[in-house]
Amino acid sequence: MSSVQYKALKGMQDILPPDIYIWQKVEAVAREVFSSYGFQEIRPPVVESTNVFTRSIGENTDIVEKEMYTFKDKGDRSISLRPEGTASVVRCYVEKNLHTMPSPQKFYYAGPMFRYERPQSGRFRQFYQIGVEAFGDPGPRIDAEVISMLRLCLERLGLREITFNVNSIGCPECRPAYRERLIEFFAGGLDRLCPDCNRRYHTNPLRILDCKVERCREMRKGAPRVTDHLCNGCRIHLDSLLSYLELMGISYTVNPDMVRGLDYYTRTTFEVTSENLGAQNAVAAGGRYDGLVKEFGGPETPAIGFAIGMERIIELLKNSVAYDFPTPDVFIAVIGALAARESMVIADRLRGKGLWAELGCSENSLKSQMRKADRLSSKYVFILGDDELNSGRLKWKKLSDSSQGEISMFEITDFLLQRSS
Ligand code: ATP
Ligand code: MG
Repeated sequence: MSSVQYKALKGMQDILPPDIYIWQKVEAVAREVFSSYGFQEIRPPVVESTNVFTRSIGENTDIVEKEMYTFKDKGDRSISLRPEGTASVVRCYVEKNLHTMPSPQKFYYAGPMFRYERPQSGRFRQFYQIGVEAFGDPGPRIDAEVISMLRLCLERLGLREITFNVNSIGCPECRPAYRERLIEFFAGGLDRLCPDCNRRYHTNPLRILDCKVERCREMRKGAPRVTDHLCNGCRIHLDSLLSYLELMGISYTVNPDMVRGLDYYTRTTFEVTSENLGAQNAVAAGGRYDGLVKEFGGPETPAIGFAIGMERIIELLKNSVAYDFPTPDVFIAVIGALAARESMVIADRLRGKGLWAELGCSENSLKSQMRKADRLSSKYVFILGDDELNSGRLKWKKLSDSSQGEISMFEITDFLLQRSS
């Protein structure tokens, strides 16, 4: 016997029943809502050439600097597990010429992402996102549609107490000047910023606005606001987006500090936060990335997307929504070899009708079979023995209220179908 103890890697989780039913619910609701908006699923691979991510997300971002799972494959190529979905979708969009489809081209994806981060509450090394990307529409109408789609998802899941934070981080026309203003502002206070922000000051000063460290928050009070430095085009884009949100009854907060951690964003950025999550309070985030398709060698194509962080949504739902997890429709307890054989035929018939049927084992006592039915929370139990086989009638029992009765063998399927829903 080996004494090795196998453990899942740090920051990687097994997702098990009954939680898995909440995951499936979220996935089902997202698919349903996205379809109503004309978004279609695509499934890019989980691994890509490393440069798919480094070039798009940006060399000086936390993700690329510290968080990527990068390996050499057997052909000595540098490959990486995807840390997010957008870069892969854009790579696919350009490679497969998806711009030839009717515009806007609207896609969604769902699956695991990988980031080598310090695991903590709401932060894992393998985590799941469901994300959407819409290509080819310069907006701002599509921005509003995408945000309303996210709202409908969260609403249909029963999530309340969430805030839509919206911002514009400008475009290549107005951001450089704003960046200079920020550099001027922070120049005198570098000793008061955290080490990360000192680095960001040189590489990506906008990100200082997003830092969660208290002294950086303090230091940036009074910093120039991006929303005060937008060019005319960006200003109009933001104002129209906000007016569309009002039109659709979506309450929002304009949050000029919300700059997002990836390089490719332009103009609209947004994030949905919850007060019920602690430090990692963003459940979904996204924005516009008008330059990225071109960057990948495709035609000039404006685009916008978001990603929902599954683990955080699940955490919220577990604490706020009651779920009825699926349980067997029926457990057939059997007495004797003949009944055991017959029960297999009955169970197969029920399963053919979509019912969940579990079988007892004739080697076990009736009492222990009943105990098992109870542990499985089966809705009904049937008892099948020689007497029942002879008479063609069998006893049923409903476990939730202990009611019971008798039916003919021929009625079993209809009896259960009428009572399952
Ligand atoms: P955060 O500020 O929480 O690190 P982020 O800006 O890195 O978020 P995005 O890349 O925008 O996150 O990803 C979108 C969503 O995916 C986040 O809002 C969050 O819900 C989820 N997410 C991101 N990183 C993780 C992680 N390591 N573990 C679990 N969920 C994550
Ligand atoms: Mg992060």
